Amino acid sequence: MMNIKKRKARAEQVMAVLKDRYPDSDCTLESGKDAWKLLEMTRLAAQCTDKRVNEVSIGLFRKYPTPESMANADICELEEIVRPCGLYHMKAKDLRESSRQIAYEYGGRVPDTMEELLKLSGVGRKIANLILGDIYGKPGIVSDTHCIRISKRLGLTDTTDPRKNEEQLSEIIPVEERAVFCHRLVDFGREICRAAHPLCDGCPFREFNCTKEK
Ligand code: SF4
Repeated sequence: MMNIKKRKARAEQVMAVLKDRYPDSDCTLESGKDAWKLLEMTRLAAQCTDKRVNEVSIGLFRKYPTPESMANADICELEEIVRPCGLYHMKAKDLRESSRQIAYEYGGRVPDTMEELLKLSGVGRKIANLILGDIYGKPGIVSDTHCIRISKRLGLTDTTDPRKNEEQLSEIIPVEERAVFCHRLVDFGREICRAAHPLCDGCPFREFNCTKEK
């Protein structure tokens, strides 16, 4: 991997290009910036598209509009609603349990520290960083599949391990840029730097000699 000075210089270049290209990047989960809804929707998004999660969430939050109501959901009914998102046994269980924790252990408010967020059922660092960055304005690297793949291809990192990717990007991305940088990587990954068949010929970073690993 390049030394940190070169990685920082490259990161600045990448941030500038992506900012220009995707000035309004934001989370594509339509939670209305409601912390609890975003948390549960992000859980549903594992191995599912954001589009489907948005569709399913309309009926989900109509039936369970508060953490209390979801905490007391009939598990079979909840499973049936989230079934289109896949892994529905586990997801329904996590949704009910995390809603119970938020409703009865945190007074209805989603906590705003990494330590507390990680105690919620089904919540890992990726979800926690998204909540911290998008809801509470705290620096967080959302180390998802796009972020890991693209930052490695661009030479900003050298790992596919989510935690190490987060650490390596935290060394070179300024705190105030972290949340939006990750959203921009998602947009860039969907449009150009796709997992299979990246569109390198028309890419603004084609001179970087990227590795083409997925
Ligand atoms: S040149 Fe290809 S691999 Fe590199 S960032 Fe662009 S699309 Fe991705």
